[in-house]
Amino acid sequence: MAKGPRQLLLEHADERDLTKLSEYEAVGGYESLRKALDMEPGAIVEELLASNIRGRGGAGFPMGRKASFLPKPDQATKPIYLTVNADESEPGTFKDREIMFRVPHALIEGAVITCYAIGAETAFIYLRGEYYTEFEIMRAALEEAQKAGYVGAAVAGSGASVTIVIHRGAGAYICGEETALLESLEGKRGQPRSKPPFPAISGVYASPTLINNVETVATVPDIIELGGAEYAKLGVENSAGTRVFSLSGNVVRGGNYELELGTPLRSLIYDIGGGIPDGRELKAVIPGGSSVPVLAANEVDAPLDFDSMANLGTFLGSGAVIVIDDRACMVQLGLRVAQFYMHESCGKCTPCREGTRWMVQILKKLEEGRAEQGELDLLLNVCDRILGNCLCPLGDAAAMPVASYVAKFRDEYQRHIEEGGCPFGAESSLAGVMAPVDQHHAHMRSQIEVPVHEFA
Ligand code: SF4
Repeated sequence: MAKGPRQLLLEHADERDLTKLSEYEAVGGYESLRKALDMEPGAIVEELLASNIRGRGGAGFPMGRKASFLPKPDQATKPIYLTVNADESEPGTFKDREIMFRVPHALIEGAVITCYAIGAETAFIYLRGEYYTEFEIMRAALEEAQKAGYVGAAVAGSGASVTIVIHRGAGAYICGEETALLESLEGKRGQPRSKPPFPAISGVYASPTLINNVETVATVPDIIELGGAEYAKLGVENSAGTRVFSLSGNVVRGGNYELELGTPLRSLIYDIGGGIPDGRELKAVIPGGSSVPVLAANEVDAPLDFDSMANLGTFLGSGAVIVIDDRACMVQLGLRVAQFYMHESCGKCTPCREGTRWMVQILKKLEEGRAEQGELDLLLNVCDRILGNCLCPLGDAAAMPVASYVAKFRDEYQRHIEEGGCPFGAESSLAGVMAPVDQHHAHMRSQIEVPVHEFA
């Protein structure tokens, strides 16, 4: 059966103001928490395992398995913590923002259930500093949840106790990397740690820590409500459930759309997103945020799931789909992406710190028509020396996409050398491609009724 729009997380968010506790309760909010509190904590972890939910932040690691790496509460020698990664900073990604903006109690409820399941009494929500409105909404929702007894001592009249702390970051992309986030949370400079030890063994304050993304944690109430096995029936094999995709770039209706995993990328762009504006042609699509390899226009029939994207040499990443039309210059795009990661490199390891600068220098020469034959191979050589040689994924996040632009659009790069500049001239434009966050406010919506594209 063709996959398409399916609302779990954002259900009712179009009709009601779910930032208010009474409205959230009116549609069954906090019922999953009551159900969970009647279960053994270990049984909740079993439900997460049965659901097959994979992390929605980027890496796609199964949440249940991550939770199972933590010491059992009765064997832990230190407190266990939950940390929610709300430092959403990957260009093109704005779905956690919408979740906190529209269904903050789903995140709070999910965090309390997860804490109960893993034996944690404290959850930190590490919130991107620039998300001030979302911070205010989360803070107000947390106050309401505390007053109602869903957070604090004796959660909903049970013996469980959970405190939630919202910690605002200061605007560094690298603090979205889980170990840099922990450093920052401890008040230190946000730089990644060497792994192992992994956070499940030694996380915040050197204590066992479960770190999961906003969307992942906010989905936990739905998993408890449905049961892990039922949730696992949604989506496709190895990609269970729904995801909120952030659609942006050169597309008519950018916005956030919750879809069952396995929905064709073409359906998202054309049926749901309304296609490419101004009669332009589709040139390429970035399927999972700016750090993942690009797809060419002839690859958009692929389903949006982890395995299908991996088969095409890319990733579902953060679920940010950036649409690129035929006006975009892939050298300019490569330069913008490389500049971003150069700026955000924390400088701790050499291949990333120096390599991203080399990438920017070569891409600038290419774009300005000053590059000579051989410098394209030099660019690929630099990418190759970064890939797999860095302490954290940021280095790869710069090298992988740029190498993919060259691989799929090499002729365009070559023309910059042969023609001594950008062959697009005044026609060249990245307008709309690299401004997805601007689009977010104009198109903030969770879902619209659309026909689902059928594929034979
Ligand atoms: Fe820092 Fe880059 Fe090394 Fe990550 S890869 S630790 S961001 S220098």
